[in-house]
Amino acid sequence: MPLCWQCGKETGGELFCPSCRSLQAPDPEYFRFFGLEERLGVDTADLQKRFYALSRRLHPDLYTRKSEREQEYSLEATAILNDAYRVLREPVDRAEYVLKRNGFDIGEQRGNNVPPELLEEMFELNMALEEMRGGDESVRPQLEQARAKFTAMLGDIRGELESLFAESDARTEPRAPAGGPLARIRAVLNRRRYILNLVREVEKELSQHNNVHVSN
Ligand SMILES: [Zn+2]
Repeated sequence: MPLCWQCGKETGGELFCPSCRSLQAPDPEYFRFFGLEERLGVDTADLQKRFYALSRRLHPDLYTRKSEREQEYSLEATAILNDAYRVLREPVDRAEYVLKRNGFDIGEQRGNNVPPELLEEMFELNMALEEMRGGDESVRPQLEQARAKFTAMLGDIRGELESLFAESDARTEPRAPAGGPLARIRAVLNRRRYILNLVREVEKELSQHNNVHVSN
């Protein structure tokens, strides 16, 4: 059990010593920092409340007359607080964080493989993109359609993630086994990254040729 640097009593891992209230060295792990269990599903309203409460207690004005040690801890804790809040409130960032903590590799590279269910569409889309680059404006409606379709797929992915989060949180055995919900979440995140890049690419082509058209 960690002991308070100030009064020497047990802190129970609390950020503020329950006995003397002094600020302790902050825990850099995001869930523990917020006093939460590691779960994929997060009540974001509750998270926001915790964020505001901690922000108030870590406000720099409260530390100007404290020891150097507490001033340092307050800066460290504020940095962790902001990072942790930014990551945990966003489902995708939160899932990536949990995957990393559970030993999953989620590098950018993985997102570059074509998800098998998109192979056929990719073939047609790449042809349309080529033609657009070659100045063939007749493929514009096809590209606009593709953009709408992929944007809708991104919306579906949010729902898909939510149900996988619930499934993963309901499990009691260790989370890592291949084929388990975390592995499926990773696959969904890779697909999402792939589709995001695709939408960007299609948008780029649509807007570039638009500009050429306008300036002519
Ligand atoms: Zn203490």
